[in-house]
Amino acid sequence: MGGSGDLPKVVNGAAERIIRYRGAVGAAPVFPEHPPEAVRAALGGPMPDGPSDAAAVVDRLADAIEPGLVASTGPRYFGFVIGGSTPGALGADLLTAGWDQNGFNAVTSPMAAVIEDIAGEWLKDVLMLPATASFGFATGAQGANTAGLAAARHHVLAQAGWDVEHHGLAGAPKIRVIVGAERHATIDRTVRLLGLGLDAVQEVPADANGAIELGALRSAVAEVDGPLIVVSQAGNVNSGACDDLTAVCDIAHDGGRAHRAWVHVDGAFGLWAAASPTHRSLVEGLAQADSWACDGHKWLNVPYDSGYVFCAHPAAHQAAMAYSAAYLIGQGGDARSPSDYVLESSRRARGFATWAALAELGRTGIADVVDRACALAQRFATQLAAEPGMHVANEVVLNQVLVGFGADDRTDHVIDLVQRSGECWMGATTWHGQRLMRISVSNATTTEADVDRSVAAIRAAHAAA
Ligand SMILES: *Cc1c(COP(=O)(O)O)cnc(C)c1O
Repeated sequence: MGGSGDLPKVVNGAAERIIRYRGAVGAAPVFPEHPPEAVRAALGGPMPDGPSDAAAVVDRLADAIEPGLVASTGPRYFGFVIGGSTPGALGADLLTAGWDQNGFNAVTSPMAAVIEDIAGEWLKDVLMLPATASFGFATGAQGANTAGLAAARHHVLAQAGWDVEHHGLAGAPKIRVIVGAERHATIDRTVRLLGLGLDAVQEVPADANGAIELGALRSAVAEVDGPLIVVSQAGNVNSGACDDLTAVCDIAHDGGRAHRAWVHVDGAFGLWAAASPTHRSLVEGLAQADSWACDGHKWLNVPYDSGYVFCAHPAAHQAAMAYSAAYLIGQGGDARSPSDYVLESSRRARGFATWAALAELGRTGIADVVDRACALAQRFATQLAAEPGMHVANEVVLNQVLVGFGADDRTDHVIDLVQRSGECWMGATTWHGQRLMRISVSNATTTEADVDRSVAAIRAAHAAA
């Protein structure tokens, strides 16, 4: 029991399950009603005393869980900013689990390390980032923001003559962190985790579509003469707006300053605009920034967890993140050590799935994923804006659409009805003082027919509300 003799049965069984599940996900209710109590009844109770057959265990798990799965890999899930997984990335991710390599460094897994080398270079290429930038494969944009801003903290304090890695922050010159009013909340968590404290954050207003307001940024930057980090954004989670990165970098890097400010770009999904010749202008100037965060598990449609941090100052990146230990000295030769660039030590070998997505889609395939999602977002906006009693609240520049249905409570009611319909799933947000339906088109399999079917579901909910 539980030995390797079960492996073919377990793996084939799981593979068949995945094939069946994914084959049906487009037709299934998008957010099925399946109470957690049913799972507790099936899988809970006392901790088992002894072993069980592995294949039976996996079957029991899948039987209990599958009826309640959110169809976020399907074509009509438009909640948050959640991608699916391409077949190639999914296959590589299954291998990743099967191979179970420790992605820590080139000794724990030379293959996990070398694939990150390759995929990291490809990512920089397709995202139009400097070829000399360092990179790390993170859990997601949260981890990437944290690694990028740790490098920033190191660098801006080093410029002020302070070694934060040794001395810490007590007694250090104070760092200012200038952010846009509509930054992602992970930036604030990062500021807390890095010990900078929320009092270090200076918020600059956002413009009508949620991008950082440049005049206000210029004034805020001019008032700081000490160490300064500016956090910019490509892809506002509500509106999709991208900051004017050329202007942000010009303002922050103004040569009149005693210390050069560091510009970090949170581009969890918006950075992918760079991969599309049609949408690239939205993130023009991005290569002038100092660090970047991006996700694979959103718009690239790599399975969770998959994020990337890039840094234009590899020495600062390493100084902030790398460590050594007696058992690591002299190991791995000249190979790049993946753990020197992210928060984790032992971890999943994240490079395989990303490599597969990039190889499967290619440059034109990625551009196509981005362009199609943007066109489908426009399709939503055009159709919904034409409906009496509905309005589109944002300028649809990317893949995000915000829709209002009159009064706030009515909007919430319509969203609730749409979510219960099982036809599609969109979340709610409050943006510029209004309750709104938030639509994100991030799944590579979504078609025009899926949008039209979802519009019909929204129209029906609006009529019933
Ligand atoms: C999703 C998102 C994040 C957080 O990313 P995770 O992948 O959830 O860690 C940060 N910033 C932006 C702009 C995002 O859209």
